[in-house]
Amino acid sequence: MNTDKILNGKNFSEQILSEIKLEIDAITTRKPSLAVVLVGEDPASQVYVRNKKAACTKVGIISIEHLLSKNTTQDELLNLVRRLNNDNTIDGILVQLPLPPQIDSKVVIDTILPNKDVDGFHRYNMGSLALNDPKSCPCTPNGVMYILDTVVSSYHGKHAVIIGSSNIVGRPMALELLNRGATVTICNSKTKNLASITATADILVAAVGRPKMVKSNWIKQNSIIIDVGINRQSDGTLCGDIDFNDVIDKVEYITPVPGGVGPMTIAILIKNTLRCYHQNQRILK
Ligand code: NAP
Repeated sequence: MNTDKILNGKNFSEQILSEIKLEIDAITTRKPSLAVVLVGEDPASQVYVRNKKAACTKVGIISIEHLLSKNTTQDELLNLVRRLNNDNTIDGILVQLPLPPQIDSKVVIDTILPNKDVDGFHRYNMGSLALNDPKSCPCTPNGVMYILDTVVSSYHGKHAVIIGSSNIVGRPMALELLNRGATVTICNSKTKNLASITATADILVAAVGRPKMVKSNWIKQNSIIIDVGINRQSDGTLCGDIDFNDVIDKVEYITPVPGGVGPMTIAILIKNTLRCYHQNQRILK
C-alpha cells in the first residue's frame, strides 16, 4: 500500500496542538478556559468529553466539567449556560450533543454567546460561515479543510461532493468548500443515483454513518476522499463510511478511520477556544 496517499490527521492535529501549546505557555496572565457540559451518561459522549479534556490539559487550557443528570430540565441547563455566559473567567462553552429528549438542543445552542461558541453551531456563527465571513467554524468541517488545504492548491473548477447534510458536518462542510471556490453538490438519503454523482467528484466527503458504504466503483480515479464517518463494527473496531481497502488503489489521497478527521475535530475545538479567549480578552479591555 502506498502510504503517501494517506492523509494523517493525527500528525496534523499534533502539529496544531503543539503550536497552540507554545502560544498558551507564553500567556502570563489568566490562561484560556473551556466549560464542558455533559448531560446524561451516553458512553460515546463520555469518550468525546474525556478526549476534549485531555487535549485541553495537553495545551494548557483550563477545562471545567459540568456533569448533569440525564433528567436535567431545559430550564436548568439554560440557567447554567447563562451563568457561564456571564462568567468572565470562562472563554468557551461546549454543550456535548446529543442532549436528552426533554431538551431542545437548538434553544441551548442559541443561548450560548456567539463569542463563547467553540463548536461554531450558533446561528450567528453558522450565518457568518454562510456569508463567507467565518468566525467560530464547526470543528469537523473546518478540520477537513485544514487537511484538504495541505494537498489542494486551488479549489476552482473542482467538483466537491458531500454525502450527508447534517447541521454539524455536511451542511457547514458544503459552505467551507463553496467559500474556497469549489463546485459543490450535497447529497442526502433521498438522493437518486448517488453512486453516479459521487463518481464525478474530484473531492468526496462522506459524512453519513454507514460502514464502508462507498466502494471503488463509486469514486473517480485519482480523487481525494475524506471519510468523516465513525462506525463501530461487530468486532469492536472502528471503520468509516468508505471501504478503505476497496478504494485505496484508485484514490490520490484518503483520510483513514481512525486517525483521519477525528483528531482534527478536537484540534480545531482547541483552536476555537483560543480564538474565543483572545476575543473575550479584547471585549473585557
Ligand atoms: P447525521 O446527523 O445522522 O446525518 C447523516 C446524513 O447522512 C444525513 O444528511 C442523511 O440524509 C445522510 N444519509 C443517511 N443515509 C444515507 C444514504 N444511504 N445515502 C446518502 N445519504 C445518507 O450524522 P452526522 O452527525 O452528520 O454524522 C455523520 C457521520 O460522521 C457519523 O458516522 C458520525 O459518527 C461521524 N462524525 C464524525 C466526526 C469526526 O470528528 N470524525 C464528527 C461528527 C460526526 P437525510 O438528511 O436525508 O437524513
